[in-house]
Amino acid sequence: ALIVFEGGDGAGKSTQAAALVAALRRDGRTVTLTREPGGTPLAESVRALVLDPSHAPVSAVTEALLFASARADHVARRIRPALERGEVVICDRFVDSSVAYQGAGRGLGTERVLELNRWAVQGLVPELTVLLDVDQTTAEVRRRERALATDRMESEARAFHDAVNAAFRELAAHAPSRYLVLDASAPAAELTDAIVDRVTGILAE
Ligand code: C5P
Repeated sequence: ALIVFEGGDGAGKSTQAAALVAALRRDGRTVTLTREPGGTPLAESVRALVLDPSHAPVSAVTEALLFASARADHVARRIRPALERGEVVICDRFVDSSVAYQGAGRGLGTERVLELNRWAVQGLVPELTVLLDVDQTTAEVRRRERALATDRMESEARAFHDAVNAAFRELAAHAPSRYLVLDASAPAAELTDAIVDRVTGILAE
């Protein structure tokens, strides 16, 4: 099964993904934890290129195509093989991040970016996407706490983050059975319990 974590910067995706991995491993499951942009050597190189300030400004089209190609490699060489071995794959960001950031945030259009990425992943759809829905105040505090302010993306305007978050919510609203939407400002342990409950249920099906 493929379980994806999505949400804006500072939503707590990595923390919750790690907590889910720990819980599933305690249950004796074999879990692959991975992330995007990245997840394979080629895809991590693409990530480093795009996020490298010396290449700024990277156009929205360039960014969308590079992230989609990184994702194609990640799916073909890491995610699908792990799924075929019967593992649980947990991925920190996936297609929805491209739709939200490049499609909505950077204005390429959500449909176009969705179509590009359906091709990149050859139709792979997560069993569940956990959307950590973050309000701007919480996100800003967490970003500052983690001193992420130097990240290229972190300097984007609030309107950008609002568009990104709205796009995540819209994707979830279109396929509610495949999403678990949680308020990211809730205590971390509460979020973990809700996530582990839902994923355990899916894996038992
Ligand atoms: O989630 P993570 O911190 O690894 O993402 C790195 C940066 O890339 C973040 O600032 C995020 O906003 C950005 N990003 C993006 N478009 C994507 C995925 C991530 O702009 N499709």
